[in-house]
Amino acid sequence: MADRYLHFTGTAPGRFLTRRLGLPRPAPLRRWSPGTPSLGGPLLHLTAGDSVITQELGALLATTGLDVTDRAERAARPAGIVLDATAVSAPGGLTAVHAALHPVIRSLAPGGRVVVVGVRPSADDHHQAAAQQALEGFTRSLGKEVGRGATVQLLRIAPDAVAPAESTLRFLLSPRSAYLSGQVIELTAAAPDPVADWTAPLAGRTALVTGAARGIGASVAGVLARDGARVICLDVPQVRDELARTAEELDATALPLDITAEDAADRIAAAAPDGLDVLVHNAGITRDRRLANMPAERWTSVLDVNLDSVLRTTDALLKAGTVNRGGRIVATASIAGIAGNNGQTNYAASKAGIIGLVRALAPQAAADHGVTVNAVAPGFIETKMTAAVPLLIREAGRRMNSLAQGGLPVDVAETTAWFAQPASTAVNGQIVRVCGQSLLGA
Ligand code: NAD
Repeated sequence: MADRYLHFTGTAPGRFLTRRLGLPRPAPLRRWSPGTPSLGGPLLHLTAGDSVITQELGALLATTGLDVTDRAERAARPAGIVLDATAVSAPGGLTAVHAALHPVIRSLAPGGRVVVVGVRPSADDHHQAAAQQALEGFTRSLGKEVGRGATVQLLRIAPDAVAPAESTLRFLLSPRSAYLSGQVIELTAAAPDPVADWTAPLAGRTALVTGAARGIGASVAGVLARDGARVICLDVPQVRDELARTAEELDATALPLDITAEDAADRIAAAAPDGLDVLVHNAGITRDRRLANMPAERWTSVLDVNLDSVLRTTDALLKAGTVNRGGRIVATASIAGIAGNNGQTNYAASKAGIIGLVRALAPQAAADHGVTVNAVAPGFIETKMTAAVPLLIREAGRRMNSLAQGGLPVDVAETTAWFAQPASTAVNGQIVRVCGQSLLGA
């Protein structure tokens, strides 16, 4: 399962050979750890045009603890660059985007972060729409160029709504977003819930994670617990022992339950008498076959676990008021649901269904229940699921992204934890790919 190539390219002969042969050279990613909670180096705050949010954005960036400057000469090797392009309202303004980033992009530190801040392309001003949409192509291309483990995202804020962007900027400008690149994240103007302690943003909150015995789900449970949540780990009764071990390590509660059971929502509600603040639908299965060879049972079981049960339990738990106001629902899509995959018509249908569900439910759930609904869409993540993929296909899956490596379960978990934060009220209806900017479905 270990990525031996990544290890090899970190050695002197590995560096020599990969350079000579023109092979992919993945950079080891700097992920969050208690010893490295932040990106370290300075943060360069640049502006294209006459932005009205410069001061407010500067003040917000200063709260990240990074040393913020708007002078390139004061940040010889910036760990992060934030380019405020909210004032770019016509294609002519894009010249300022080039002028701001061209001189400094080469100096970005390895594993650095670029965040372009824009606004939503207008529905009735086609000049503004052209300019703001241009930022998307720009961002995605820059993500493919920067290399050395650096990442690039486009963050669209609601007009002048800087404060709602705090949790997202903190996440994107931290080691927690190591495997995220080329993403476009669009925020609403919803005010964030106040955060007393950014090191334990989920303190006092109750979270339930499905499929939590192992893999990505176990990591999600671990990161939510690290961030202060009381966690309930749900998985099928067949893996009761593994589930009990995972839960015990996290001081969490184990709930052996098949999510497709008729009474699943009632059993979940009974396990969370004070309600749920975070509900993570992570359980998922694959039953691969080409459509021509796929028996109905393989089709139905995948749709039932990955999509129908998510719809059923979400509807029932929202209706019963089990998901508390200010609650967060996070579902799990997949890159297969965006790009499609040979042998996975059932799986891709279920995961694309999750995307439809999230987009439609998000505004409704916010209006009716004060709850946000988002999805992570993992790319190639190193788990038992991907270890079972034949070697050559596995190797291709690992390398075909801008970071030239697979992600780790913790990368999906960190993204889930950002969605789950009380301060992430403005993050709603988003499908965020945790895929190192996969070339598939791009
Ligand atoms: P995994 O197989 O390692 O873990 C999935 C867990 O879900 C298992 O513990 C399993 O017992 C549990 N589960 C299955 N059916 C269940 C049910 N009916 N009720 C309750 N629990 C059930 O898989 P993983 O790689 O950790 O994937 C987790 C999620 O991420 C899945 O939704 C998967 O589709 C998605 N995903 C994974 C990848 C990847 O590269 N690993 C990529 C894209 C999406």
